[in-house]
Amino acid sequence: MLSPVYFGSARQARLEAKESLPAKLDLILDRLHLRDRVKDETVAIKMHTGNNLGYSTVHPVFVRKVVQAVKDGGGKPYVTDVNWDARGAEERGYSSETLGCPVFPTAGPDEKYFYAHARPFKNIQEWKIAGLIQDATFMINFAHVKGHPTCGFGAAFKNLALGCMVGETRGAMHDTMHFDRYWFAERCPDADTRQRIATSCPHAAIVEDRHQSGEMHLHFEQCNQCERCLQVAPPGSLKIDPVNFYAFQEACAISVEQVFSTFAPGKITHLSLATHMTPVCDCFGFTSMPILPDAGVFGSDDIVVIDRAVLDVTGRSRLIEENLPTSLEVHTREGHPFRWLHGPYKDPYLVTEYGAQLGLGSCEYELIDVLPVEQIEHAPIGYIPAR
Ligand code: SF4
Repeated sequence: MLSPVYFGSARQARLEAKESLPAKLDLILDRLHLRDRVKDETVAIKMHTGNNLGYSTVHPVFVRKVVQAVKDGGGKPYVTDVNWDARGAEERGYSSETLGCPVFPTAGPDEKYFYAHARPFKNIQEWKIAGLIQDATFMINFAHVKGHPTCGFGAAFKNLALGCMVGETRGAMHDTMHFDRYWFAERCPDADTRQRIATSCPHAAIVEDRHQSGEMHLHFEQCNQCERCLQVAPPGSLKIDPVNFYAFQEACAISVEQVFSTFAPGKITHLSLATHMTPVCDCFGFTSMPILPDAGVFGSDDIVVIDRAVLDVTGRSRLIEENLPTSLEVHTREGHPFRWLHGPYKDPYLVTEYGAQLGLGSCEYELIDVLPVEQIEHAPIGYIPAR
């Protein structure tokens, strides 16, 4: 059966508020029957409030609509984000006055409030889920869509996978990329050659390990898999291997699986706002120029298909190359534009495939436009002859 994904286009036919994105979000909340589902529920609205000077996260106007819908339905809402983002949320416009509900750090101010769940995966033995996520009886996963240097893009999966865990687990998830060996020091004993490998990388992605002489360290976030370093490295000394890159996306899917295990069926819904999509994530603490045209707002109870629908819709757009930071380069033009930017092993669809394998959602969906953009036909110029 096809999973429904509700969609409101960023485009309008008429310059009227009822055709704008916040109004379309309201229509999506109706189609998801949100008000009918939250009576007496403790509702965590998980979002990323950004960091430092960021201003492209989900605008409070949208969040307030969701908060109001929860209140209308008799639920008890709170917005929640990891402590170091929640701490400065007010400076970016997220406060109880603007949103209509409190903003809490997911695991308390010092990230000491969590529940540990055993589930071995590479270097991870247990997943520490933030207390205010697990204590909620209903969750609204409200994500902002953007690129991401570790996995190509961030949206519904990413918002829960990293944002519902404490810092220790978030760090361990990034470390999964280093679990499988990629540097074989015995094949490159020469320090000058190691230096040449490091300087071959225009993105400073591979460096000598600060703690272990003779070891090289790959900064996966900066690596776009251009393979210049492989042309310098002695045979067999270095691998730029999908297994390392894919590990993070699989970890994200497993993390979401753990979060889902703490909610009863039907008690999580997902919203994604695909506007002002920057090349990297909102953790960076600033907002750079958008690299894709605004797409719209999406809603679904199925996390796999909402991310797939977002990728399918945004993937039909052109990459706004003139808006790219000059330090980034496009060296492949296959697949989604986020993949062009972050490299072939950071295919943004991967996390949805791992999620589908874990049974977190389906692969097929029906995109339902809640207010299709009317194509207005203009009378031909000259229809009434000018004098
Ligand atoms: S593949 Fe390219 S970006 Fe990655 S470490 Fe090697 S040279 Fe740097």
